[in-house]
Amino acid sequence: MTQHSFQTEVTQLLQLMIHSLYSEREIFLRELVSNASDACDRLRFLGLTQPELLAGAGDLRVTITTDPEARTLTISDNGIGLTEAEAVEHLGTIAKSGTKAFLEKLSGDQAKDSRLIGQFGVGFYSAFMVAHRVVVESRSAQAEAGAGVRWESSGDGNFATETITREERGTSITLHLKDDATDFAQNWKLRELIKKYSDYVTYPVMLPKYVSDEDRAKGVIGELEQVNAGVPLWTRPKDEITEEQYRDFYRSACKMWDEPATRLHFHVEGMLSFTALIFVPGQRPMDLFDRDRRGLHLYVRRVFVMDDCKDLLPDYLRFVRGIVDSDDLPLNVSREMLQQQDTVAKLRKQLVKRILDHLHKLAASEDEKERAAFAGIDRSFGTILREGLVTDPEQRERLAKVTRYRSTWTVGTPAEGETRPETTGLEDYLKRMPEGQDKIYFALAGSLDAAKSSPHLEAFAKKGYEVLFWVDPVDEWVVSHLTEFEKKPLANVATAAADLASEDEKKALEEQAKSFEGFLGFCKTALGEGVKDVRLTNRLTDSPCVLVEEAGGMGAQFEEMMRRMGQPVPPRQRALELNAEHPLIARLQALHAADAADSRLPGYVTVLRDQALLAEGGQLEDAAGFARRVQELMAKAIA
Ligand code: ADP
Repeated sequence: MTQHSFQTEVTQLLQLMIHSLYSEREIFLRELVSNASDACDRLRFLGLTQPELLAGAGDLRVTITTDPEARTLTISDNGIGLTEAEAVEHLGTIAKSGTKAFLEKLSGDQAKDSRLIGQFGVGFYSAFMVAHRVVVESRSAQAEAGAGVRWESSGDGNFATETITREERGTSITLHLKDDATDFAQNWKLRELIKKYSDYVTYPVMLPKYVSDEDRAKGVIGELEQVNAGVPLWTRPKDEITEEQYRDFYRSACKMWDEPATRLHFHVEGMLSFTALIFVPGQRPMDLFDRDRRGLHLYVRRVFVMDDCKDLLPDYLRFVRGIVDSDDLPLNVSREMLQQQDTVAKLRKQLVKRILDHLHKLAASEDEKERAAFAGIDRSFGTILREGLVTDPEQRERLAKVTRYRSTWTVGTPAEGETRPETTGLEDYLKRMPEGQDKIYFALAGSLDAAKSSPHLEAFAKKGYEVLFWVDPVDEWVVSHLTEFEKKPLANVATAAADLASEDEKKALEEQAKSFEGFLGFCKTALGEGVKDVRLTNRLTDSPCVLVEEAGGMGAQFEEMMRRMGQPVPPRQRALELNAEHPLIARLQALHAADAADSRLPGYVTVLRDQALLAEGGQLEDAAGFARRVQELMAKAIA
């Protein structure tokens, strides 16, 4: 016997299971049957390439037996089994991500926490809710009979393992039931629970037939019979599946623990035949950035082929979970082969199209609940979806319809009795466009606050044009890929304001620039390398000045990103534009006209430029110098 300690998180979890949780205990059976069925799935898959592994032990199945006298319950499978090393690792030393997530969610309120466990599952360890001792015996399908393992624990901080001889491959888990849990050794109870939670498990779940007490006393052991329907959930007609069944399937098959935000269950027939049952999680899964864990499990004609099948979905849909059951792929398809399968590319295209159309349907739904579900999905996964605008040109238009942004309209003050959504889509934006507006405008910034207070918005506000706020790092890339939507070009407010001016306005500006010529030249010299040009603008109303990207310049966020990645940042190609109507600019110009050599002027002009940089969320190269100059100004103003 070798003693091992559970990982800290596991110990914490077990403490809870043993001492605090009394309701919803029955879900332990769902968890153990689901593990047993997974083990059968994995063996069946291995058997496709190594048929000798499947030989000898009959059909794959899960068997549940009880001993009411000894108060034990045993769940056995003839699946893939565990080696001793695997048992040590999987049943004790490595907590799966769900365990941590579960512990983080605990509130300390017992009733609430027990409900939580029903939602999370937390797998194998839930056995300790009903058992004071758990014994696992197993042999890996790839190991000799002499290399079996017995694992046992009472759920305190430790577990023990030893090598045993076990003729049959697969795993038996024996629960020594707690005094208050002996119900679970009753056949009728187990039958009820299997029907409730595990009816659609693909493998037969077997229980002994009913035996009367009298017969049992005579030593009669009931024959085994299959209790579950054994029909995979996704093959059943939609209208016969309840919400609970869908949710239980999501939790057990996709190993999730939350409430799915939405689901999509459909069958396609024709050139390509497949069924898909797809869920969008209600919360961000923890492994969202784990590139190897990608939602969809692949079945071929009802037979499990592989989990986390990456080729079925593009990266930007990596948050989607569920199964795809194909009628067209060969059963022995391998991960490597998948990439070369034409069918897979077609399947993937169909899936993406369906998923995006479904999201669009939710977003545009009359039903408030569906719209709320979409809003939740957008909050959790909107940024990830937007990656697709860059990476998937073919679906760009479809994706653009399901991306959501805040805008000058959504953050604006609603009229009396009007409510505005938190975000808006491009289709709704188009509907609100006033006469004369022919582009979709957006402001690119590092944060919502920076976007909201950008001086660039002023010219658009004057015209009554709505501006979308693009404030996610990914939007910087989107700019160069999403260039039009429904034939309307998209334009960045930082460069587009000039086209707003009418011919008359442009002329007036030229006139005004003449009287400013000297001052503008002075500014240019004073700012030196700092700006490419200094000129007048009529794009501003409230701000004195703004920095504008010259053609060919990189955006501010892009620059910030280069800096963070340690890349050299090329010199900026920017112009400082001044609002001649602003009193500050007017006075500076007057000051310069009166005495071009006034020693205060260079400092003032520098502060002006620095403030423009700050206003757009940029970083000052000489922050200390800026602070000093402002202090000097304040001191003079007070004096
Ligand atoms: P999960 O099933 O969510 O990964 P569990 O705590 O339920 O988490 O199980 C941990 C691991 O133990 C499984 O991933 C699997 O590798 C192994 N395991 C559990 N039950 C069995 C079984 N019946 N047969 C083979 N392996 C099993």
